[in-house]
Amino acid sequence: MAKIAVLSGDGVGPEVVREAMKVLEITGARFGIPLEFEEGIVGGAAIDREGTPLPLRTLSLCKACDAILFGAVGGPKWDSLPVDRRPERGLLLLRKELGLYANLRPVKLFAPLVDASPLKREIIEGVDLMVLRELTGGLYFGEPKGIDALPNAQGERAVDTLIYTTPEIERIARIGFQIAAQRRKRLTSVDKVNVLASSQLWRRVVTETAKEFPGIELDHMLVDNCSMQLIRDPRQFDVLLTENTFGDILSDEAAMLAGSIGMLPSASLGDGPGLYEPIHGSAPDIAGQDTVNPLATILSAAMLLRYSLHHELAAAAIETAVSRVLEAGYRTPDIWQPGPAVLVNTAHMGDLVVESLVKG
Ligand code: NAD
Repeated sequence: MAKIAVLSGDGVGPEVVREAMKVLEITGARFGIPLEFEEGIVGGAAIDREGTPLPLRTLSLCKACDAILFGAVGGPKWDSLPVDRRPERGLLLLRKELGLYANLRPVKLFAPLVDASPLKREIIEGVDLMVLRELTGGLYFGEPKGIDALPNAQGERAVDTLIYTTPEIERIARIGFQIAAQRRKRLTSVDKVNVLASSQLWRRVVTETAKEFPGIELDHMLVDNCSMQLIRDPRQFDVLLTENTFGDILSDEAAMLAGSIGMLPSASLGDGPGLYEPIHGSAPDIAGQDTVNPLATILSAAMLLRYSLHHELAAAAIETAVSRVLEAGYRTPDIWQPGPAVLVNTAHMGDLVVESLVKG
């Protein structure tokens, strides 16, 4: 029996997780994978009930599970709290506590959505890349961090610290080369070597680690150029390896290649249970309207089956079902274009994927 912790979180989180659970249940039944779900609270919902974004009970539940299905956290209600007590801190702590250092964000354009992207068809047709982002180091965690007062009422001083060590870079680089080996065997490492010391170490260690993987073609690209190349010629990329902050920004940019942020799944892996979530946030502007696109979370559930339960066939079946539903012309508002496409709400989109899985 595979045990899955379900952390829906805030805003649209519960809406998208509900659809992904429907899909996981039917996929488990079809492929004979016994699944047990247990819910935990996180983010703003946990702050409201227990005063902390990651209660100990939730953390223990996650540690005892095979995988975690996560929605999203955050929202205006908690925006005035200090940074270390905000909902987003719950997710950062969870990543840190579980040692989830590798964040995989596949960006694949489903052919029927070629016109949903703001970019031209001839630039994005066939886009299929993987952003691999280091998730537990760099600016988001480095110490010292904080804001303090300058003397003589001159205002304040804010500090964030960007730290990377050789072992941290080596382990994420190895995952990058391994992923590239299963794909088109190209890895582009992203850095800012012209100004950052951490990037100088990053480039040196990635270049050294490449010697363990002679079959993979490695190149290096500055992050500013990479941001431009993603829009100019995204098909040049196979695997993009980045540190934490660069990866956060580049993967949202890359999301637009796939039509909508609502299409992009992710997996965060370490040595224990993996965490699977859409790359989008809690989308408070559309929460509670039943219009949010659940496909990113449904595709995250497919990644859960692939990477934590090692059930490639079941994962591929979900991806095929999503593809069929899109080919049949069904769209949530974020990917809808005027024309023959049928506009559906969140629950209907989930039902359509389930129906397609049942048909096989
Ligand atoms: P967001 O990703 O929530 O939303 C950005 C825009 O994309 C919004 O207009 C939203 O309506 C739209 N959108 C997002 N997901 C969608 C989907 N599945 N279908 C259709 N439209 C979708 O980012 P934001 O507005 O910058 O952040 C909102 C809150 O979420 C903030 O509190 C932020 O801190 C939090 N956040 C959480 C996570 C997370 O939990 N992993 C990630 C990013 C942001």
